[in-house]
Amino acid sequence: MKKLRGKLSWLIVLTFLCNACTTSNKTDSKLRIVTVSTTGMIADAIANIAGEHAQVTALMGAGVDPHLYKVTQGDLEKLQNADIIFYNGLHLEGKMSEVLEKLSAKKKVIAVSDGINKAKIRLLDAKGNTYDPHIWFNVAIWKEAVLYASLQIQKADSLNTEMYKANTLKFANDLDSLDAWVMSEINSIPQQSRLLITAHDAFGYFGEAYGMEVKGLQGISTVSDYGLNDVTSLVNLITTKKIKAIFIETSVSDKSIKAVVEGCKAKGHEVKIGGTLYSDAMGQPGTPEGTYIGMVKANVNTMVKALK
Ligand SMILES: [Zn+2]
Repeated sequence: MKKLRGKLSWLIVLTFLCNACTTSNKTDSKLRIVTVSTTGMIADAIANIAGEHAQVTALMGAGVDPHLYKVTQGDLEKLQNADIIFYNGLHLEGKMSEVLEKLSAKKKVIAVSDGINKAKIRLLDAKGNTYDPHIWFNVAIWKEAVLYASLQIQKADSLNTEMYKANTLKFANDLDSLDAWVMSEINSIPQQSRLLITAHDAFGYFGEAYGMEVKGLQGISTVSDYGLNDVTSLVNLITTKKIKAIFIETSVSDKSIKAVVEGCKAKGHEVKIGGTLYSDAMGQPGTPEGTYIGMVKANVNTMVKALK
């Protein structure tokens, strides 16, 4: 009797194990890639490429400044559990680089900027050591980063390659339309008013791609501070060109831009704050500005309304 009971319990255990087998086989055929992206723009691209096959987490939410962002304990857990980590690169995530480097020894850690033709990346010094990381503001360049990220996902999950390819093609077409739309909207601003003044230098790629002169008060990274000289030279430029509006950014303090408005007032020129631009972070999730395409459109609408 005792022997029989022993056999029975073995049977039960075996059945349980087999059930576990079939369940895990089922999930394997529909692999879920856990991706962790640094910025919202990257997470948005991965979600468009991978659809329901990826669980996408963005570390930096709405209004977060990637230049100053430090990894929290919660982030570390997310990063350690990820199958693939996507980040911007070109030193955008200045304070995270050490952590990303360590993780790259153990798992796929991919800089989406590696997919961009080096000749298209803006150099910031004559020596060629510093690059402008704000690649998402030239939609055509961002598309190259998206196509590169897509290839990495296809490699990581070869069972679903066809689906990833189809999703990527659709998203790439949407980006082509967006690129053309931005160009025609900016062209509607009179030539002499195409000057974009913001808190920090996030819009260099935008200016080059769509024909706008761009001035940032704070330089490429928000780590460096602005000085009185910077304020004075911007005030001179705005009053000379009689520029109507300058802009604040969602992820950067508006203190510096307000100093410029005051400076212009003192010289007898009224310059408005033309609105808020999304520079290094997208809008709230669930709103149109919470997607990459919606964020670019919102920015362009704000610029056109204030400068036209
Ligand atoms: Zn920035």
